[in-house]
Amino acid sequence: MIPPIANRFVAGESPARALEHVRRLNDRNIAGIVNLLGEHYTARPPVRSDAAEYRALVRDIANSHLEACISVKPSQLGLDLGEDVFRETLADVVEVAADHGVFVWIDMEDHTTTDATLEAYEDLARAHAGGVGVCVQANLKRTREDVERLADVPGKVRFVKGAYDEPADIAYRDTDRIDREYEALLEYAFEHYGGGIAVGSHDPEMIEHAIDCHETHGTDFELQMLMGVREDAQDDLAAEYPVYQYVPYGDRWKSYFYRRMTERTANVRFALRAVLDR
Ligand code: FAD
Repeated sequence: MIPPIANRFVAGESPARALEHVRRLNDRNIAGIVNLLGEHYTARPPVRSDAAEYRALVRDIANSHLEACISVKPSQLGLDLGEDVFRETLADVVEVAADHGVFVWIDMEDHTTTDATLEAYEDLARAHAGGVGVCVQANLKRTREDVERLADVPGKVRFVKGAYDEPADIAYRDTDRIDREYEALLEYAFEHYGGGIAVGSHDPEMIEHAIDCHETHGTDFELQMLMGVREDAQDDLAAEYPVYQYVPYGDRWKSYFYRRMTERTANVRFALRAVLDR
């Protein structure tokens, strides 16, 4: 069971709990992006098992008529075992998801995985137009070129600042520089993409900038935030724009929870309050 200190950020250990959470989100006019927690598998059994769980999950999402998609991590689907394992496993999940009309996001991990992730995305997005999306990170210096290249791919792109500690020769490390880069990437996408833009940020300035770009260019977009972060803002924004909440679940919740704790002291306060208010 997920302890109260963590259940603000993680929906539960079972897919049923995650889908119950999505149902409550849908009642608030917010869609769910369901993620089974797991990464960096170096053996095949957990890769096979998580892929099977995703295939069952997309069937459950479709059968329960929820507004939800899924998000998978490349190293969860076998990238550490080889690009061929990853591509084959991801393709199986995307195939079943496409059959059930459920969208698949591919999360982006550290820079050593970027090429393999983008290449797999491009092939699958062309095979299942409108059914697959990928995340790009503003902190990586290569991302401007990637974003230009992805303009013609029939999928969606989620823009984030980047969660991984990357080396200075390939990444911006100054937060103001990353913010300006993020804004520039949004400007490019709103001007050159036909839609399919996802703004994955809690930052009021970045969200404001996306709304300005939308008003200037008229390009469709969606906002994406994490479960437990700025929930009030999610409700306010959902009155005007499509809002998706990233909903992690599963028994490997500890490392995800500790990451949320270490990135912001406010999150520690929220988590402690959840325990103290019981
Ligand atoms: P920050 O730069 O962390 O903060 C800027 C401002 O936002 C703050 O000053 C504050 O005003 C507001 N804010 C931020 N957090 C809080 C909070 N907890 N409470 C209140 N206000 C807050 N990264 C990857 O590398 N790969 C991925 O695949 C990926 N997928 C993601 C998917 C989603 C849906 C989201 C939301 C993020 C994802 N990320 C991913 C993480 C992302 O890269 C950032 O690390 C993370 O979102 C923090 O950056 P930020 O833009 O939200 O705001």
